[in-house]
Amino acid sequence: MPRHALVWFKRDLRLRDHAPLAAAAQADTAAAVYVIEPDWLASPEGSSAHLAFALEGLAQLRRALAARGLPLLVEVGEVRAVFERLRARYPFTDLLSHEETGSGWSYRRDRAVAAWCRQHSVVWQEFAQTGVVRRLRTRDGWARHWQVRMDAPLVPTPDGFRGAEGLALPDLPDLVRLGLDPHGKQLQAAGEAPAQATLASFLAYRGHGYLTSISSPLRAERGGSRLSPYLAFGMLSMRQVHQATVAAIAGSDDVAVRRALRGFAGRLRWHCHFMQKLESQPSLEFRNLARATDGLREGEFDRERFGAWCAGATGYPMVDACMRSLRATGWLNFRMRAMLVSFAAYHLWLHWREPGLFLARQFLDYEAGIHWSQMQMQSGTTGINTLRMYSPAKQARDHDPGGHFIRRWVPELGRVPLPLLAEPWRMEPSQQRAAGCVIGRDYPAPLVEERAALAQARDRLYALRRDPRTRAEADAIQTRHGSRRSGLPSARRRRRTGATSQPDLFE
Ligand SMILES: Cc1cc2nc3c(=O)[nH]c(=O)nc-3n(C[C@H](O)[C@H](O)[C@H](O)COP(=O)(O)OP(=O)(O)OC[C@H]3O[C@@H](n4cnc5c(N)ncnc54)[C@H](O)[C@@H]3O)c2cc1C
Repeated sequence: MPRHALVWFKRDLRLRDHAPLAAAAQADTAAAVYVIEPDWLASPEGSSAHLAFALEGLAQLRRALAARGLPLLVEVGEVRAVFERLRARYPFTDLLSHEETGSGWSYRRDRAVAAWCRQHSVVWQEFAQTGVVRRLRTRDGWARHWQVRMDAPLVPTPDGFRGAEGLALPDLPDLVRLGLDPHGKQLQAAGEAPAQATLASFLAYRGHGYLTSISSPLRAERGGSRLSPYLAFGMLSMRQVHQATVAAIAGSDDVAVRRALRGFAGRLRWHCHFMQKLESQPSLEFRNLARATDGLREGEFDRERFGAWCAGATGYPMVDACMRSLRATGWLNFRMRAMLVSFAAYHLWLHWREPGLFLARQFLDYEAGIHWSQMQMQSGTTGINTLRMYSPAKQARDHDPGGHFIRRWVPELGRVPLPLLAEPWRMEPSQQRAAGCVIGRDYPAPLVEERAALAQARDRLYALRRDPRTRAEADAIQTRHGSRRSGLPSARRRRRTGATSQPDLFE
């Protein structure tokens, strides 16, 4: 029976190392589709910046596929309705895609598509593209699965396809036609070619000081890989990044460079480690992982504090600079993301879900599994991670000692003397006037008093962590989701490292 393949592009907007494309090249005819879904556009974590990035990548992908004879349709609508319409023009028998570990709406959509395929006798084949393992029964041995997948040879890119004929390819829609506001951000360039170039420059020279660059919001801009949006949209495959990194490590005789790139390679594994948590427990997007923390912050959400945090107007310069920088560029380094969330969770005592949705819309690299795991980790609701409360002033001293980052993003503090830049409320009134920055008029007074806010947060969290039921639940969470890096069985390792009893870190 002839096979008519349809490649369904989702978060895999690339040509290289693409198993569905390779499978489509074997079919009697082939076409490809990308669907702009109303559920995505309407989802509280989606933003026009995400769509703009995808469309820029799709324009390039469409040209590259056309050169190989494969038509790529870009359709707007609910996926099953799009498939129905498409089948009238192109009666495909095989649907080929990569697995996706996404937000709740995409999980529901995949189940609906699976039912639709069964109903229409379409064979849907899904291929793994990360280290995430479907229907994983135990975390023991997960790292081995990851290694095997990442070391497998890259899938060869087909030279050509027997493309379905007669499919009209209208121009790609743009944000205005889709009724979306322009995002106004200065985004990284999208597409497979910029992604490859970013990987190459990182491995060749940008990443050589990786470990000393990544905590500073200034240095990480260049010294971090900046690959996260490309990985999130699949413009690069994780396997390709892993293999190129391994080759770069092997090819360098500089010990410091090898150590730096090994640090980076470890984070690629984290990427999948966190995604695996969501794959294994989709509810972590919505509910506290440690149910013992239910009720801790729920019902106390202070909208005014939340609004000030979103606006970058908390009165804490390092927090405000990070938020404004993120809103303008769609990117922020790890340490400063953690500080923003810690500030929301501990200083402002905000539940993680709404801040998480806001950040998801800002992060161009929004990846549900990493994002929600990190939101919960930095808010103290996983039950298994050390509580980290970041002091914005200390972060400024450590990672922006010259004050350049704060001055760039909070220009109202431009003339504040450096020793007081991170805590401008400490300026005497005469200093405020001299700096042209009167606190409460030109720049907000601190939203909360740090010492009191953190003392209260600590009291509440410690009381909870001391409860034997919390500790018992934490053991179960560690067994289900925890890293097995030490090689010890999870519960034993947990008791040995005493993760729940570690003191809070105030960094
Ligand atoms: C609250 C919070 C939310 C986050 N949300 C996301 C998200 O939605 N998408 C996302 O890709 N990253 C997220 N991160 C992780 C991290 O901040 C970003 O991956 C990183 O800042 C991206 O910049 P980079 O590519 O230059 O990172 P690099 O330091 O160069 O790291 C290389 C790659 O490793 C992975 N990685 C790095 N750090 C982590 C980490 N801590 N956990 C998991 N994977 C990691 C990413 O894929 C990253 O691209 C979040 C972190 C926090 C604290």
